Amino acid sequence: MPDVLVAGAGPTGLLTSFELERAGLEVLVLERDARPSRQSKALAVQPRSIEVLAERDLLSAIEPHVQARLEAGHFAGLPVGYADLPTRFPYQLGVEQAHIATAIEGKLRTPVLRGAAVTAVAQDGSGVTVTAGGREHRAGWLVAADGGHSTVRALLGADFPGYSARISLVVADLKLDRKPDGLAENWQLPAHGSGFLLPLTGGRHRVIVAGEEQQQLGRDAPVTAEELQRGLLAAHGPGIEVGEVLWASRFGDAARQLARYRHGRVLFAGDAAHIHLPVGGQGLNLGLQDAVNLGWKLAAQVRGWAPEGLLDSYHDERHPIAERVLLSTRAQGALGMPNPESAAVREIFRGLLAVPEARRDVALELSGIGIRYPGTTGRATAVPATPDGRGVLIGTPLPPGWADRLVSAGGAEPQLVRPDGYLAWAGGPDLDAAARRWFGLPA
Ligand SMILES: Cc1cc2nc3c(=O)[nH]c(=O)nc-3n(C[C@H](O)[C@H](O)[C@H](O)COP(=O)(O)OP(=O)(O)OC[C@H]3O[C@@H](n4cnc5c(N)ncnc54)[C@H](O)[C@@H]3O)c2cc1C
Repeated sequence: MPDVLVAGAGPTGLLTSFELERAGLEVLVLERDARPSRQSKALAVQPRSIEVLAERDLLSAIEPHVQARLEAGHFAGLPVGYADLPTRFPYQLGVEQAHIATAIEGKLRTPVLRGAAVTAVAQDGSGVTVTAGGREHRAGWLVAADGGHSTVRALLGADFPGYSARISLVVADLKLDRKPDGLAENWQLPAHGSGFLLPLTGGRHRVIVAGEEQQQLGRDAPVTAEELQRGLLAAHGPGIEVGEVLWASRFGDAARQLARYRHGRVLFAGDAAHIHLPVGGQGLNLGLQDAVNLGWKLAAQVRGWAPEGLLDSYHDERHPIAERVLLSTRAQGALGMPNPESAAVREIFRGLLAVPEARRDVALELSGIGIRYPGTTGRATAVPATPDGRGVLIGTPLPPGWADRLVSAGGAEPQLVRPDGYLAWAGGPDLDAAARRWFGLPA
């Protein structure tokens, strides 16, 4: 019997599995789709996520697929320079989401059972029974990373408060039979508004349209080449011709977040826990950060050394971060509305973002580099994640009793680094208290 079942083999579920497996747990991933998805909703990876991937030696498998290094993030399409961020990676990586999932899955020993949609969940005092693909699976815990339409969330009747969608957009990857004059062949920050066109590899283009027609059509209406052609014509004028449509989907600006990320033995992560307008390149990145925050805490719980409240600190630490992203993306959505008032506020924002302190604050937030958790003093830079999921004590001898949870490393600056890379202690007399707070009682 596995220690943990993970519902969903998207980037969040796969990275959570990677973290659990790294800490020595037996994991089974249950995935609805029969084959790995080739459809990449996300294209932008933020600096903090790049750090996380690099620290786990996952970046090298992604790098061959990187199409651009963007030296700025953006807030509603307004550039926000990253050059002075305190990170080895002061840029966004332009890479299709599918390559990230493939890179993580390529390093997993954990089996991914495909064609196994979760249809029922029952939990009791000792574990969770999950029906998936018509079979029952049992484990101590379930991580629900089954995306924005999470079945597990619905099955548990979990409270998912927030705002319903008010606008409707279409995303598609397609080939153009005729390109408009002057169409950029390199990656650029999205010029705001409908008709966004970005070149991908293999002659494909990423398209987003959000005109009147999209507002009239129902969310379940199939996206047709004709609809895309009309949307692109409106944005680019004659001279553009849609060819083969490779995939297309409708999405909106609903902003919702689970009231609680933990429901007994079920923990929610990624889009299953929070949804919002995909603007500013945040959703995938939130999911990756959820995964590394949850992984070591759940592993500690299973292995029996988790101090009181450690597992619940997953909700306490991650809920406010996503709450802030929901606020930010709602603000960006409002700035992007096609009306004169939004355009006016946008101009004011453009001016504000020219103020270095304001720009830096927004950059720290969008990039994930500014993430701070209560009781930690920021993140360690360039400390590789340990292969077995232990924390790292740097520059000071390892006190007895923690060798199963901590590994010692040389370094001039004393630091106690949690397995997710955040600093539990950065010198001073209180090492023992910090170690007990995050790593439990010494053996
Ligand atoms: C147009 C668009 C552009 C975006 N661009 C960006 C961007 O540039 N940067 C960014 O950070 N984010 C972006 N996002 C958001 C990003 O794509 C998501 O936040 C990300 O996919 C979340 O990953 P996840 O693993 O949590 O969920 P998902 O990627 O949705 O994965 C969930 C998995 O669960 C599986 N599943 C579903 N139901 C079940 C079930 N019942 N049982 C078992 N498995 C199930 C699904 O098949 C899927 O494999 C964008 C989103 C959209 C729509």
